Amino acid sequence: MCDRPFATLVQWHHPVPKAKKGRGTVPVHPICHKAIHANFSNAELARFGQDRMRLLECAALAKFVEWVKDKPPDFHAPTRKGAKGRT
Ligand SMILES: [Zn+2]
Repeated sequence: MCDRPFATLVQWHHPVPKAKKGRGTVPVHPICHKAIHANFSNAELARFGQDRMRLLECAALAKFVEWVKDKPPDFHAPTRKGAKGRT
């Protein structure tokens, strides 16, 4: 999503959620994965999850990508989302 290369940290994201009969996965950085799910519901992802440009129309996500694109591939920071927001 952010166009950065991958190092060791890779997660597999379902562009269309499994719960919505999505098939196939794409590699994403863990931090990007969190950002996607923090900004979109499964219903939204089912509608336009495969369209990267649609995702980036979300101001919060576009800002995140701007911010993360200069970070090293394995960069990870806790996503602020309550004390037990870790997965
Ligand atoms: Zn990424």
